[in-house]
Order: sequence, then C-alpha cells, then structure tokens
Amino acid sequence: MTNDVLALKYRPRFFSEVTGQDLTVDMLSNSIKLNKIHHAYLFSGTRGVGKTTLARLFAKSLLCDTGITDTPCGKCNSCNEIDNGNHLDLIEIDAASRTKVEDTKTLMENVQYSPTSSRFKIYLIDEVHMLSDKSFNALLKTIEEPPEHIKFLLATTEPDKLPETVLSRCLHFKLAQVDFNVISSHLEFVVKSENIKYDNESLDLISRNAKGSLRDSLSILEQCIAYCNGSLEINKIKMLMGYIDDEIIKNIISSIIHKEPENLINTIEEIENSSSFEKLLDSVIDILYRLSLYKINSKIKDNLYKNDVFYQKLAANILSEDIQLFYQIAVSSKKDISWAPNQKDYFSMIMLRMIYFSDNDSENKEEDNLPNSINEENDFDWNKIVNKLNLNGMALELARHCTLSKKNDNTLLIMIDMQKQNIYPKSCLSDFFNILNSFLKKEYKYEVIYQENLKTPDYIQKENKKNENNLIYDKAKQDPNINNIKEIFGSDIDKKSIKKIKDVEGQS
Ligand SMILES: [Zn+2]
Repeated sequence: MTNDVLALKYRPRFFSEVTGQDLTVDMLSNSIKLNKIHHAYLFSGTRGVGKTTLARLFAKSLLCDTGITDTPCGKCNSCNEIDNGNHLDLIEIDAASRTKVEDTKTLMENVQYSPTSSRFKIYLIDEVHMLSDKSFNALLKTIEEPPEHIKFLLATTEPDKLPETVLSRCLHFKLAQVDFNVISSHLEFVVKSENIKYDNESLDLISRNAKGSLRDSLSILEQCIAYCNGSLEINKIKMLMGYIDDEIIKNIISSIIHKEPENLINTIEEIENSSSFEKLLDSVIDILYRLSLYKINSKIKDNLYKNDVFYQKLAANILSEDIQLFYQIAVSSKKDISWAPNQKDYFSMIMLRMIYFSDNDSENKEEDNLPNSINEENDFDWNKIVNKLNLNGMALELARHCTLSKKNDNTLLIMIDMQKQNIYPKSCLSDFFNILNSFLKKEYKYEVIYQENLKTPDYIQKENKKNENNLIYDKAKQDPNINNIKEIFGSDIDKKSIKKIKDVEGQS
C-alpha cells in the first residue's frame, strides 16, 4: 500500500469538493463567472494545502469542452484528460527538477504555438521559486507580453523567493493552512466512506499531526490504517507516532500540580531513554491547553474530555494562572530541547521548573471524592458540590445564595435567597443549569423558587464564622489575663472585633 492512495482517491474533482480553502475557491469561481480571467496566477502556501489541486481545477474550468465555467462537466475529453494528467494543453512542470535555463527556454519557445485542441495553452509550474535567475528571465519575458492563448498557473511554498517582477504580474492567492477541525471532519468523511472503524480521538490526533496539511493528513491516515490492520485504534496510533503511554503523561501532570518532585522524577525514569521527549512535551502542552478550556467551560464543543475524571480532578486542583505559567514554560522550552545533550534530563528539568516556579499553595485546594451524582436519599451536600463546580463570577454568586434539592427523578429544585430575586438574568440561570447538568451527567429540568431563611452556602459560611467567634468570646471571658485587663480599664470585649490572627495578617 503506497501512501498516496487515499490522497489520490479523494482529490477534489470540482471546486465544490475542495476542503478548507473557501475564500480562494470563491474568488476563482467569481473571476470565471465575471469573465475576468488574468493571464498569470500564483498560488502560495505550505505543503499539502491544495495549491496544485486548485490550479488543476482552474485549468479544468478554462479547458472544459462545455465552455469556460466554474462548474466544469467532469465528463468531456478535456476534463477526463486533466483528471488523468495527460491533457496536451495543460503542461505541468515541476521546477524543483527542472532548473536549467535551457529547459525553460525550450518551453518558452513553444509558447508561440497555438494550443493543440483547446482554447488555451496552460503552463502549471510547481515550486516555481526553484527556477534559476536565467530561467526566471526567460519566464518573465513571456509573462510580460503573453499571447492571448497562454495562461500561467504558478505554485510555490516560498513566494518570498520570487523576483518582484514576476510577483507583480501575477494574481496572487495565499492559501491558508487548513484548520484542524476542517481536517478532522474531512478525515471522518473519508473513513466513513471507506467503512473503516474509527474513534474520534484517533482522528483528532492525526489531524493535529498533519499541521494544517490536508494531503499529509490523508497520508498519515493511510499509514495508521495499515498499521492498525484496517481500522483506527488510538493506542496503536500513539505507538506508531512515538507517543508515550497516556497514563505516564497523566502521572507527570498530576505530580506537577500536586507538587511532588520525587514522584515526578520516578515517573520520568520509567520512560525509555530513546523515546521522543519532544513529542512528550507536545502532549504536556496539549493537556495543559485542554485543562485550560476545561476550566473555562467544561461544555466546550470540541472538548473530547468533558467527561474525563482526570480532567475533572485536575481542574479542581489547579489555578488558571498556574496553567498559563506551565504552558508558557513548556512552549518556551520546546525550541531548545533538540540542543540538549540529554533530552530526558532536559525534559525533567522543564517539568521541575513548573513545580518550583508556581508558588501557589496547592494544599489549600481540597480534593474530596464526592460522587458526581445525586443519590436517591437526596442527602447530597450542596455546600461541597459548589466548591467542586469551579464557578466564577455571577454563577458563583448565584450558587452561594441558593440551595439545591431533588424534586423527582428528572427535576431539581433550586431555591434562591428572596433578597436576590430579579438579580440573576435568565442567561445566567440557564448557563448555571447547563454547568450543573454537565457535572451531574444528567439532563435535569429545573424549577426555581425564591424563599427566605434558606441554608445557602453563604448563610452556612456566615453561621460558621459566628459560631467560631462565640467560642472564642467564651474562651476569652474565662481568660484570667483578659479579665485583669477588663478590671484595670473598666472595659469589656467587643465581640465583633474578634478576628483570627491569620485574617488580620491577610488584611495588612
Ligand atoms: Zn468538461
């Protein structure tokens, strides 16, 4: 099995089949519809984004036997010959293998001859920046005053290397790298059409590794299918691509977040010295990014891991600022990893840096093992759940001023403090319900009522503080030293002035 079967099979035959280059397709087909056809076009962009594919489709539009059209028939001789790569008036040149000036000169000498059978003679020059200076001059002469029947379609990965004189005579289309999500859904279309068993995580990984190149994504897909014996299995694909076992990566991240350097080093020790630590660093970066998304909104559409316990637990134990810091450390260290005398040691140092640079006290973040469900007896602790929800802003404010209970199997009852009536907008409530449903993993309906004297988390916190102060007050009243002071100054203890030493320090 060669690596081009899928790329060839799914190469677009019409503009409507082109993936990820909507803007260029629109501009090209509009220019055809308006009959504004230039004599030289330049398509630039990184490898595999569709430069020559678009050029060939454009050639088809110009040469189709049914006339110049942005929807060539795909059936006539010209269309078929272009698809098969043997149309006599579409002359394809790979400049990477043809840089000698004589070749280009010979080519240009033939320009004067009319097309053999069509309305145009089209030159498609791929990697045009590879032409020598002399070849460029020969090309330029023709481009400057081209005969009516000649069209040039140039493609290059490095437009900066083209002489200004050539650039200025071309209509230039800069093709963007194809978006990761677009690649992923294209791959899904391909595997479905090929009846190949797949999972989303595999498609996700392949799309990321294609780095914006649709053609590369199909080549990688093909390798993976061959490696997995005709299907896609995420574990095998990770092995093929040199990724480290997920559990190890999760252990590393977890050790960093819980500030356990010893555990971290032991985990890294388990990894083979010959592994790709650059890829491992990529995985760490990827997880940090997802963790960040997870904290912002666990319902984000492309978040494959929204029900993953690993992300749920970590998100509860790390501050957003720390994720930013770790991400920054990982990305900025990446460029040097290939220079390190020992990649494994260097990787360990990067991970340790994350532990030592974050000075937030993770011990303050309570990790409990509350089940993410409401049990039948309806005795769940709303106060604790609120702490696990990672809320902020208005949603947190709302959560602190309400209570939650189960009305029936499908409906939850939210009771909100009467004093907060009309404060929360509808959107805030519906966002809040979504967060709860995602956390509870069930699509509950909600009934909202406003009531006084609720035991909300806010109320409980204030009560606890009051009780604590009463205790201290009682203790103080029995303290002989304080009683001496009271006697000397004829004064009493002001209950409201009692504060924990820690609180007082915190205010200074
Ligand atoms: Zn046709």
